[in-house]
Amino acid sequence: MTLTVLNPATEQPIAQLEQAGVEETNAAVARAKAAFPAWRSVAPTDRARLLRRLATLVEEHTEELARIESQNVGKPISGARGEVEMVANVFHFYAGAVDKHYGETIPVAGGVDLTFREPLGVVGLIVPWNFPLNISSWKLGPALACGNTVVLKPAELTPLSALRLAELALDAGIPEGVVNVLVGKGSVVGARLVEHPDVAKIGFTGSTEVGREIMRGAANTIKRVTLELGGKSANVVFDDADLEKAAAGAPYAVFDNAGQDCCARSRIFVQKSVYDEFLTALIESTAAVKVGDPLDEATEMGPLISAQHREAVASFVDGSVLFRGNVPEGPGFWYPCTLVEATNEDRIAREEVFGPVAALIPFENEAEAIRLANDTPYGLSGSIWTRDGARALRVARAIETGVLSVNSNSSVRHSTPFGGFKQSGFGRELGMHALEGYSEVKNVYIAT
Ligand code: NDP
Repeated sequence: MTLTVLNPATEQPIAQLEQAGVEETNAAVARAKAAFPAWRSVAPTDRARLLRRLATLVEEHTEELARIESQNVGKPISGARGEVEMVANVFHFYAGAVDKHYGETIPVAGGVDLTFREPLGVVGLIVPWNFPLNISSWKLGPALACGNTVVLKPAELTPLSALRLAELALDAGIPEGVVNVLVGKGSVVGARLVEHPDVAKIGFTGSTEVGREIMRGAANTIKRVTLELGGKSANVVFDDADLEKAAAGAPYAVFDNAGQDCCARSRIFVQKSVYDEFLTALIESTAAVKVGDPLDEATEMGPLISAQHREAVASFVDGSVLFRGNVPEGPGFWYPCTLVEATNEDRIAREEVFGPVAALIPFENEAEAIRLANDTPYGLSGSIWTRDGARALRVARAIETGVLSVNSNSSVRHSTPFGGFKQSGFGRELGMHALEGYSEVKNVYIAT
């Protein structure tokens, strides 16, 4: 069956692709399995060199990759370039990690005990539509560095950058069969990867609902899984914060990527004593977000990914709207930056909206802020704004979340661990921590 890929800013087709089914999935797994023995045996310095070459090729193709991502996802071009830069950094990092992820010798009686980091074999990587290239690299980098071969399934809506990345991997000299990309439905290709007996692990990013399905499906073959799922993160603004800075940063903490970001700090908790002052500054900075043509250098927010997704986002917004921004007329799946007053019990504060909609929730004191921030099934990211260093550490330790920033919105760096607590998933991506998820520890005892 043919898949038509759309540009969400114009609603026009930008590609027609053949979709893979179960048979093609089985064939890709077979290719990856056949390529595994040779790939795992490549000398570490050579594997590192190949990954470094891929990183360099990504750098050299920044403009092309950024345009593909911008046109397929609706991302502002300037942000898309930044994402490609991160992809290159990820491959550079894991090139450097190849020969720094090693075993131990452990003191034992009567002999020598050694541990080895063994690759898993064929790994299935299932990637969503919000950061297609970035999230692909977060999984590919450590998987390849550890000596695994991969079958990567990008989201149906956004397959183009992953296909180009696979071509660059071949150009870099990574052998045929090591990186396989399949365009197809999650319910067909994704589900087959999850059940396939020759796939050792699934690295998944996406919705919590599909994450549950993957966990259930993986049980049959005791597959390893890493799940990076939804979020409902808190942005906690204390009355001793630099309010101007917090209000200037808050829109990008939730409207970046049009809010289609698992790290979106979509619950903004503000201490009551500064609520009005903060709200005035927040409305001002939200009104300044430039929404429009993703290929315009000045644009800061593009459209949502699809008409269906826009409907889902709109269903969250009811009467208590504090601010609603402007969107371009004409085609495109636009949705305005929206601020809503809410309580932590409202649907908008419980469920992942995945759009440019933030819920503002007042709080009295530090204890209440922590209680409210933690009163959610999710635990992915979050921010705290305060000038009190002791409070920053105290609250950072108390909030149940995998990634937290103080006086900043930044969640993701190529060298630091990223992943969730609670129903935001488990396992860590990025940094040296990700290598744990793509290798097994083998223990060998030698009697002497
Ligand atoms: P999904 O979880 O459905 O999609 C993520 C990936 O999983 C896609 O590649 C998808 O394929 C695939 N997939 C879907 N069903 C299965 C299955 N049964 N087995 C294996 N793989 C499968 O996310 P949606 O795109 O539907 O988005 C829905 C909501 O999920 C969003 O509104 C948001 O709340 C959340 N989300 C969270 C993300 C995050 O970064 N944590 C990313 C994306 C979404 P296909 O291409 O066919 O859809």
